Amino acid sequence: MVNRRSFLQKSVVAGATLGIASCAPSALRLAEKQLNIQYSSRYLPKLRISLDRVVKETVGLRPYRTIGPRIEKETLGSKTLVHNYGHGGSGWSLSWGSAELATKLVDSSWASENSIVSTATDAMALPPGSARKVAVIGCGVIGLTTARALQRRGYEVTIYTKEMAPDITSSKATGTWSPAHRLIDSSNVNDTFFEQFKQMHQTSFLSYQNLLGLGNLVVWTDSYDVRQDEASLAHGDLPANEKYNFMEVLPKPKRLADKEHPFRAPVVYRRTSMVFNIPSLLKMYTDDFLRFGGTVKIQEFKRLENLDALPETCIVNCTGIGAKRLTDDPHLTPIAGQLAFVIPQQEVNYRIATQSAYTINRKDGIIVGGTHKMGSWETTPSHEDTERMVVAIKKVADTMYT
Ligand SMILES: Cc1cc2nc3c(=O)[nH]c(=O)nc-3n(C[C@H](O)[C@H](O)[C@H](O)COP(=O)(O)OP(=O)(O)OC[C@H]3O[C@@H](n4cnc5c(N)ncnc54)[C@H](O)[C@@H]3O)c2cc1C
Repeated sequence: MVNRRSFLQKSVVAGATLGIASCAPSALRLAEKQLNIQYSSRYLPKLRISLDRVVKETVGLRPYRTIGPRIEKETLGSKTLVHNYGHGGSGWSLSWGSAELATKLVDSSWASENSIVSTATDAMALPPGSARKVAVIGCGVIGLTTARALQRRGYEVTIYTKEMAPDITSSKATGTWSPAHRLIDSSNVNDTFFEQFKQMHQTSFLSYQNLLGLGNLVVWTDSYDVRQDEASLAHGDLPANEKYNFMEVLPKPKRLADKEHPFRAPVVYRRTSMVFNIPSLLKMYTDDFLRFGGTVKIQEFKRLENLDALPETCIVNCTGIGAKRLTDDPHLTPIAGQLAFVIPQQEVNYRIATQSAYTINRKDGIIVGGTHKMGSWETTPSHEDTERMVVAIKKVADTMYT
C-alpha cells in the first residue's frame, strides 16, 4: 500500500517539476491537512475558549432521587395524583419515556373511575363535551412532554407552574443523551427499577430519533474523551451487566491512534452521541402544547393539599426539585450543576470531555460544565468554578494540532 506521507511527498515533487515548487514544504503541509480534513478526524476546527468569551453562567438543581424517579399514582382527597419527578441528571434523556409511563397511570385512573377501557383510540372516540381534563404541575421538560403525551391520547390539559423557561432546571441542562447519569444510588438498583428504566429508555431514544432532521433540535455528534490514562475514564453510572445490554443503543466508543485525532494526550476515545438544542426544543414543546389547545397558568402551590382546589380531578406532579418541598420526599435531594456559556462557534461540531470538565456544541453556545454538588441548593454561579472548568478545557484546546 502506498504510504500517505510518501505519496504526498511524491505529489509535491511532481508539482515542483511543473513549476510550483517554491512553496514545497508548505504545500506538503497544506496537502496533508486537506487529506486529514477529507479522510480522517485528525483535523477538527479549533475551539476558541477563554474566560473573556464566557457570556453567561447558570446553576441548575438536578432532581436526584436516591431510589430513582417517582412515577406512581396516589389518591389525594377527591383527586388522583400521578407523580412524575426525580430524574436526576437524566431528565432530558428519559423525558418522553417517563411521560409515557405517567400517561398510562392517568389512563388507568380514568378507566377505573369511569369504567371504560382507556386507549388512545377510545380517547379520540369520546363524544364532544366529554373531554377528559388533566392538570400538569410544572413546565420543565418532564411537564411539557407529559402534557404533550396526554394531549396525544385525547386529554385536555392545563399546565400550572411557578416558572417557565429559561428560569427552570430544564433550561440549565447541558443537553446530551445521558439516560443513567445521577439517576439512582447504585445500591438501590433492582429489577423493578430496571424494568421501568428500560421502558423509559427505549421510548425516549426512539422519540429523539423521530426529531432528527427537524432543523437542529437534535443532532448526533462526536465526543472526544481526552485523558492522561485509561483509569480516569468513567464507564457510566449504572452497573455493567449483560442483562442490561439494551442500553447499548449507541455506537461503541473507539480508542483512537495518535494520527486519528488532534489532541496531545496519551488516551483519546471517540464516542458518538446525541445533543439536544435545549432552547429550541423547549420552545417547540411549548408551541406544540399551545397549538393543540393547551393552556399555561402561572401558579405556585405551597402545599400538596392546595392542589385539591383545582377543577381537574386528575393531576400530574412534574415539579422536579420543587417536589422536595411540595411532597416532603425524603429521597429527593438537589445536585447542583454549573454551566458556563462561551460564544457559539457554528463550525465546532464536536464535544470534548476531560476528567474535570466537558464541552457541548450547542447552537446557543459552547457550553462548559462539570460540577456536581450533592445537597446544594445554591443557584448563584461561582466564578471559581467557571474559571476551573474553562481553564481545564482551554488547556486541551490550546494544544490541539491544527
Ligand atoms: C448542569 C445540568 C446538566 C444537565 N445535563 C443533562 C443532560 O445532559 N441530559 C439529561 O438528560 N439531563 C440533564 N440534566 C438533568 C435535567 O436537566 C433534569 O433532570 C430535568 O431538567 C428535570 O426536569 P423537570 O421538568 O423535572 O424539572 P424542572 O425543569 O425544574 O421543572 C419543574 C417545573 O415545576 C415547577 N414547579 C416546581 N415547584 C412548583 C410548585 N410548588 N408549584 C408550581 N410549580 C412548581 C417549576 O417552576 C418548573 O416549571 C442536567 C441538569 C443540570 C442541572
